[in-house]
Amino acid sequence: MGEEAWIGLGANLGDRRATLESAIDALRVLPHTRLTARSRLYRSPAWQASGPDYLNAVARLSTGLAPHDLLHALQSLETHFGRLRPYPGAPRTLDLDLLLMRDRVLHTPELTLPHPRLHERAFVLRPLAELAPDLPIPGRGTVAACLHTVDAQDCTVWCHP
Ligand code: AMP
Repeated sequence: MGEEAWIGLGANLGDRRATLESAIDALRVLPHTRLTARSRLYRSPAWQASGPDYLNAVARLSTGLAPHDLLHALQSLETHFGRLRPYPGAPRTLDLDLLLMRDRVLHTPELTLPHPRLHERAFVLRPLAELAPDLPIPGRGTVAACLHTVDAQDCTVWCHP
């Protein structure tokens, strides 16, 4: 039996929709991992960063990977999709964050769980709330309760033009 893990996906360069759909397909075939749910796509302005609007989504996995192994797999996918890191907050073809793994709390140099900014970002909380509004975020209350506090942030379901 795998452990539940939640992944946040974002893209604001290139064919954002194609990148997110391909990234979700890539999550499906990670070792020892199944994709058990995915949200719709959402649109949000670049947050404390430059560039075009983001498209965002979240995915739920059931995985046998340990947290750091899962993080490394996500980083390999970012690289595969052509992400460069010229400066912090730079526009990116693909950003993958490990948001939550059950009730795990981790503070290592490489990995913080829950993701340290998850609870203050509507572009993560809104797609999460589509799938799991009652999900507890360790130390922060439920997804729905956190979303309530960031309701003013612009983030809406993206309609394919
Ligand atoms: P970013 O540039 O936003 O993709 O941030 C990546 C950096 O955040 C990497 O150095 C990771 O090691 C670190 N990091 C810490 N916690 C997490 C997490 N929960 N998910 C993804 N990256 C994380």
